[in-house]
Amino acid sequence: MSTRTFDFDTVAIGAGPANLSLAALYEGACGTRLPVFERNAGPAWHEGLMLPGARLQTSWVKDLVSLVDPRHELSFLNYIVTSGRVYAFLNAQFDAIPRLEYARYLGWAAGHLDVRYGTAVDRVAYDDGFALYGGGRLLGRARHVVFGLGTRPHVPACFAGRPLPGVILAEQLMSRLPGLTGRADPAVVVGGGQTGAECVLALLRAGFTDVQWLGRRHWFAPLDDSPPANDFYRPSYLSFFSGLPETTRRRFVSEQATTSDGVSMSSLQEIYRAEYEERLQSGARPLSLLPGRDVVAVAGRGGAITMRCRLSTGGQEFREARYVVLAAGREAAPLPLDGELAEMVELDETGEPVVEQHYSLLWKHGDQHRIFVQNRARFTHGINDPNLSLLSVRAACIVNALFEREAYRIRDEHTFTHWPDPHVPR
Ligand SMILES: Cc1cc2nc3c(=O)[nH]c(=O)nc-3n(C[C@H](O)[C@H](O)[C@H](O)COP(=O)(O)OP(=O)(O)OC[C@H]3O[C@@H](n4cnc5c(N)ncnc54)[C@H](O)[C@@H]3O)c2cc1C
Repeated sequence: MSTRTFDFDTVAIGAGPANLSLAALYEGACGTRLPVFERNAGPAWHEGLMLPGARLQTSWVKDLVSLVDPRHELSFLNYIVTSGRVYAFLNAQFDAIPRLEYARYLGWAAGHLDVRYGTAVDRVAYDDGFALYGGGRLLGRARHVVFGLGTRPHVPACFAGRPLPGVILAEQLMSRLPGLTGRADPAVVVGGGQTGAECVLALLRAGFTDVQWLGRRHWFAPLDDSPPANDFYRPSYLSFFSGLPETTRRRFVSEQATTSDGVSMSSLQEIYRAEYEERLQSGARPLSLLPGRDVVAVAGRGGAITMRCRLSTGGQEFREARYVVLAAGREAAPLPLDGELAEMVELDETGEPVVEQHYSLLWKHGDQHRIFVQNRARFTHGINDPNLSLLSVRAACIVNALFEREAYRIRDEHTFTHWPDPHVPR
């Protein structure tokens, strides 16, 4: 039996929406604050991607707490009422609320929680519990940890490790835009998702007259926000999904991709209308859509960037641009587990840590000291996992597991989609 004393029972690392939801529900369940270590100096949510007009793709009802505890004081409704903006907000009749308003809501909620800004956790070691290090010093010891580190931009292999002038990450576009000259020169956006669409719009609005939007899929797929698509974002589906064999889960996640990674209809309409009106007005052709292209090689010479694209129909083509904006998706941020601890964690055949039912990792001392992960369980818990939709449900599940009681009851009883029974004999 360990006699180790702990500074904290549980620590959360990363103050994105996932861990803010957890901290809110944790406090609601036990009255004690959950320390959240955040590397940013203050509240920030995908700050570099706050392009003008950006909208949330999720209903504000799916805030940090309401789906499991609608009376919690950190609901979006409480935020918007206490900010004095509720009437203006309602009168603006948003179909989808500004992303900026959601970011402000997160900042407001964080202000009511124990978020320790400017505290990057660089290393977590096993020491009869967890020792957390950052900036070369011990930050504290904890019995359990919850990682909510989010994602970082994915840089296609051919662009990685070789910075070329004119290649811009999507999250740098907003700050770089005012300094970009040569707006009649070709500017290519790589990536056919929502961020790619927002970059296309930002370039068009900034007066670029030869914007080329390049994506790997055969079309710029809209976000499927239909009722059947939203059946995948329900606790009842989550239970069904997690009982499926792994190969089936992977196949379903790939089939359901556009319910999460598609482009909002409003952004697509805006893009098509911008092109139409510009051609009507000036006869210019400011935008080309280039689906079915995968950039596989890149070279830079004399201010021009040349890309070799593999075509979805076979064959290849070359594209030249002055600027290339990379909006090629995101990947999970690495877990800062030190070598010895990492070796105690069970990995699946793809080399990723195995995530169990309550979002904890399967590892050697998991019975006494739990490592929970948020936003890393797409293939075990479903397409909802990287999303905001079931944020509070996942957080509630972690709180219930931490306290070993049903602190929050998850209810989803009115269903009429009957998923096939995976246990029926073949
Ligand atoms: C631009 C954009 C818009 C999106 N819009 C939507 C949407 O409308 N609807 C939807 O469902 N999903 C959306 N998503 C997807 C997803 O819901 C968000 O990415 C969401 O922010 C994920 O929450 P998170 O808490 O897991 O991660 P993040 O929000 O990325 O937060 C992680 C936090 O951890 C901190 N951190 C990382 N490493 C450390 C460390 N070592 N020590 C301390 N702190 C650390 C980071 O600084 C960050 O603050 C969007 C994604 C992007 C990129």
